[in-house]
Amino acid sequence: MESIDSTITVDPKIQHLSEEEIIEETNLGQNEVAMQNEVALLGENKEPLNKKVIKNGFSYEKDGWKYMAIQGDAYERGFAYGTLSAKEFKEIQRMLNYFIYESYAVTWEEMVDTVNEDIYELTKEKFNEFFEEMRGIAEGCTKAGTETTLKEIIAWNFYMSIPYWLSVRSGNSAGKEGGAKDRCSAFMAVGDYTKDGKIVVAHNSFTDFVDGQYSDVILSIQVPEGKGHNILMQTSPCMIWSGTDFFVTSKGIIGTETTIGGFFPYEQKNPIGYRIRKAMQYGDSLDDYEKILLEGNSGDYANSWLFADIHTNEIMRIELGLKYHNTERKTNGYFIGFNAAYDSKIRNLECSDSGFYDTRRHQGARKVRLAELMEEYKGEIDLETAKIIIADHYDVYLHKKDNPCSRTVCSHYDLDAREYMSDPTRPKPFSPHGAVDGCVIDTAMAAKMGFSGRYGNSCGIPFDKNVFCDKNMQWDNFRPYLNDRPTKPWSDFYFSLVEEDLEKEKEVEKEKEKEKEKETDSLSFTMTDKTKNKKKKTTRRQGGKIKLKRTIKRR
Ligand SMILES: [Zn+2]
Repeated sequence: MESIDSTITVDPKIQHLSEEEIIEETNLGQNEVAMQNEVALLGENKEPLNKKVIKNGFSYEKDGWKYMAIQGDAYERGFAYGTLSAKEFKEIQRMLNYFIYESYAVTWEEMVDTVNEDIYELTKEKFNEFFEEMRGIAEGCTKAGTETTLKEIIAWNFYMSIPYWLSVRSGNSAGKEGGAKDRCSAFMAVGDYTKDGKIVVAHNSFTDFVDGQYSDVILSIQVPEGKGHNILMQTSPCMIWSGTDFFVTSKGIIGTETTIGGFFPYEQKNPIGYRIRKAMQYGDSLDDYEKILLEGNSGDYANSWLFADIHTNEIMRIELGLKYHNTERKTNGYFIGFNAAYDSKIRNLECSDSGFYDTRRHQGARKVRLAELMEEYKGEIDLETAKIIIADHYDVYLHKKDNPCSRTVCSHYDLDAREYMSDPTRPKPFSPHGAVDGCVIDTAMAAKMGFSGRYGNSCGIPFDKNVFCDKNMQWDNFRPYLNDRPTKPWSDFYFSLVEEDLEKEKEVEKEKEKEKEKETDSLSFTMTDKTKNKKKKTTRRQGGKIKLKRTIKRR
């Protein structure tokens, strides 16, 4: 284990804390110190909201995102995660009760039962650490006011696999018209293509707004020593893996993907959520990622996976079909992701109507456009240009410079009349579907376990559910389940160390008790604000600055 230590001087002014809060700083527990540390890194004018500190974790909201940091053994960190996610998970339950029936004609309750018939025992036996984490999530969430069960959390973590699994299990094609849905744009570049020759990665998630709008969590997972690597990822509340797939680990591995559209085969083995989470936590190298993803491959959520190792400066793409897969690695060049496989076997034998050559479709169009952008920015790709590329609105089919639609890198099905649609099973005209975020990372940020994200979409065009539903009344039944996504800026997030030091907590409690006693004593003699203020000022730290230590553990 190597460790990077850096001491960060936190100026109270930058923290935007009131004097009251600064004074209270002296009595903070370790988790609170960790959160203050994280908050201090946000810089000026970035006020975090709804700060919450609990045992084994903390959370706050910023620029549309919900940042959560958890630590401990599987059950403990799960419990903290469930506690911090309770409010949001209630919303998700409401959405699932509506959207699952609307999409598959079975209730969410029935779906939870059927999913668990197939994977409950498998989860318990083969992935016990994750089983325990999800047991913690269910209990933490319930205790914090949103009643749920372990089975519901297992089904929620199987959410991305449902369309693949259900079409085989039920023998009908409910929810999976024309094979798997298409999601996401992505690229990874290295060598001659980037400004510093190191790795740059960008991704955005295309999804139905009604469920994809919940991929608004940045989760920092700190595992105990000997239990693999720490993780920072984008995810949805109560998910133990990313789902949209954007992450960095303390081993220096960056990961993302784009779905292979129109994919249909499935075999009941290990769910993708468990396989990728196992890779994130225990994968030491790109080889490990390939090995772990192939082990018990079910063909669910078949993706073109993109991984990068910052220590070897190497990028890798795995087109992961069911019977077939295709792995390529580069130390100079790029990979782009546009929802279709280059591999001829996967594309022809495991997909229906892939859209690979069709520039009317978003696969063919972005296959062209992302490659053009890689060449246009060759040698200049860094975090800032990555943000521009992933927000691109050039329409290669109509040769229009700024035409946000289904064919553009930053996708906007909600603005697209689909008059050029070549496959009627694909998203309908003006669908509440498209990019809901943007994420970028480079080697330097990955070394500090951080990345930059933009909530809403990659370009900043706001989504107003009432304007949308008034204009497109065919989706009016979705109105109660859609959220507005106003324009938000890009924000940087980093992995946080959450300390658990029970002895120290007890000491802090004792100190607080003593302080209270003293205060009560002094107040009983002199009940004036002046005295109270004077007393408080003496507890302020020398120089008005608080020194915090940031440690990133590498395993
Ligand atoms: Zn856009």
